[in-house]
Amino acid sequence: MRKERRIETEMIHSNDKHDHGYGSLSAPIFQTSTFAFENAAQGERRFAGKEDGYIYTRLGNPTVKALEERIATLEGGERALAFASGMAAVSAVLFSMTRAGDHVLCSNGLYGCTYGLLQMMKEKYGITHDFSYMQTEEEIKALINDRTTCIFVETPINPTMKVIDLEMVAKVAKQHDIPVIVDNTFCTPYLQRPLEIGCDIVLHSATKYIGGHGDVIAGLVIGKAEYMNRLAKSEQKDIGGVLSPFDAWLLLRGLKTLHIRLDRHTSNAAWIAERLNEHPIVKRVYYPGMDDHPQKVIIDKQMKSGGGVIAFEIEGTKQEAQSFMDHLNLIKIAVSLGDAETLVQHPASMTHAVIPEKDREKMGIHDGLIRLSIGLEAVEDLWQDLKQALNHSNRNKVRA
Ligand SMILES: *Cc1c(COP(=O)(O)O)cnc(C)c1O
Repeated sequence: MRKERRIETEMIHSNDKHDHGYGSLSAPIFQTSTFAFENAAQGERRFAGKEDGYIYTRLGNPTVKALEERIATLEGGERALAFASGMAAVSAVLFSMTRAGDHVLCSNGLYGCTYGLLQMMKEKYGITHDFSYMQTEEEIKALINDRTTCIFVETPINPTMKVIDLEMVAKVAKQHDIPVIVDNTFCTPYLQRPLEIGCDIVLHSATKYIGGHGDVIAGLVIGKAEYMNRLAKSEQKDIGGVLSPFDAWLLLRGLKTLHIRLDRHTSNAAWIAERLNEHPIVKRVYYPGMDDHPQKVIIDKQMKSGGGVIAFEIEGTKQEAQSFMDHLNLIKIAVSLGDAETLVQHPASMTHAVIPEKDREKMGIHDGLIRLSIGLEAVEDLWQDLKQALNHSNRNKVRA
């Protein structure tokens, strides 16, 4: 479908056949929990699946469906489902993939709550997991066993921005007939489309770039119709973490500007990453858009641009990192990403605090590491704010 129209156009127009009689340009919000049947026989037909139509919003809603159809087109999938949060999407997918005693192979450096969920699945259901940086085929093959039912990948890996070659992972997975699930939150379909590369399921925390305004919590899953139909009828319907019609509408609105927002997030981030790299107090900058990124070949192959998230390490202790953050004025201290506002957080004590220190260190999440979600402000104002806080830290260092 995107052979005819470009993705920027599809973000605004795809499946826009949702008028319901009044010519409404914006998708109407069907704020209803249930749908009345014309007669009892119709109710029976709908429940039996013999007639299309809505029954009850947990099972489907026209506003939510408009969003699902649009994101399915954008990711190049057959069907999508919307969830009440990114974690509702992650948990529905992981539960759909596993039975007690199964095994999940994951990329190293997962989102904190995904890590927590896997821990819970291990304790309660004996579903084990292994972590891998997935840098070579051998590394992946070595950790696949006969109970491995899926591979779960996040790329770029938060917060150190290492990437995983999705084409390579998909190839190994095919050889073992195991589906690959990709958490595509950091990229969105505008920057990376894992289904087109051969992966099987894509999921999102739509709370981040897709919503884009820091005002909604939501999740999305996209994949083949056969799998998605099963997910809709079991894990989604019976666990019940569905998205509300109003929140679906907010995401439809967010999608219309996703491409221009991401272009600006990216150009701001690329500029800031360069400035940070030149600053004497900054030891290291992690940003997939940098020309000297050691994995540039993979990045150029699978990502349109480096996106809006940067991590960098300053010389110093946790206290020094916190002091730097406390000296920022414009930039807000908050977790999350993809908002219009630039946000800063300290992974070792915030998003990745649940990970034991030893493992955290191995992942490169040291006490001096700081993550920025670059927003849509004028880039000069952002740099002004960062520079004065960095210089403050630097003065203290020289004095000490
Ligand atoms: C935020 C996030 C999640 C969880 O999403 P929620 O909407 O907060 O439930 C999952 N994966 C990644 C990569 C995230 O950044």
